[in-house]
Amino acid sequence: MNLGGAKDEVYEFARKVIKEDIERMDSLGIEYMCFHPGSHVGGGIEFGIKRISDALNEALTGEENITLLLETMSGKGTEIGFDFNQLREIIDSVEHNEKLGVCLDTCHIFSAGYDIVNDLDGVLEEFDKIIGLDRLKAVHLNDSMMPFGDKKDRHEVIGEGKIGLEAIINFMTHPKISHLPFFLETPLEDEGHKREIAMIKEILDNKIR
Ligand SMILES: [Zn+2]
Repeated sequence: MNLGGAKDEVYEFARKVIKEDIERMDSLGIEYMCFHPGSHVGGGIEFGIKRISDALNEALTGEENITLLLETMSGKGTEIGFDFNQLREIIDSVEHNEKLGVCLDTCHIFSAGYDIVNDLDGVLEEFDKIIGLDRLKAVHLNDSMMPFGDKKDRHEVIGEGKIGLEAIINFMTHPKISHLPFFLETPLEDEGHKREIAMIKEILDNKIR
């Protein structure tokens, strides 16, 4: 699904889908629904932001209990949302933006050029200044196969990528974000994820002790 695209048929379809998804998820009592804002596919960033905002304005009545989370993107291809300012623009353009939050993907923002390895404090300050940390509701926790600022979206197993275990643990335990729900989207099956979670837990336990 792409809410930012230049092709009218694709956009019309995406607009319908997001509206139906919101209605269905909201009626099920789901608290958060995370989605990729969209790609402009050549229409340009401002055009894409306008299309995404229009679709959200059409879909959101303000009566929902659900909060929609815009995901931070890597900037691969023509993706929108790789710069905190772009997410801010979407939020500002949506009337019922009290229903909007952000889901931060560690792999994506590292790839987009936010240096969470060497300057996590700086990145979080910037997020707070532009979007507001109160909008940050969830984290997709992934290491990155590709180097810093490469604008590629390739998830890696925690500790085996360019972000590395130390930076991931620092991220998870940072006082400004440690209360958030963290979701793994690393390229592993269930058993691998279990091992990954056990490893992270052990490190966190040792850190706290
Ligand atoms: Zn990704």
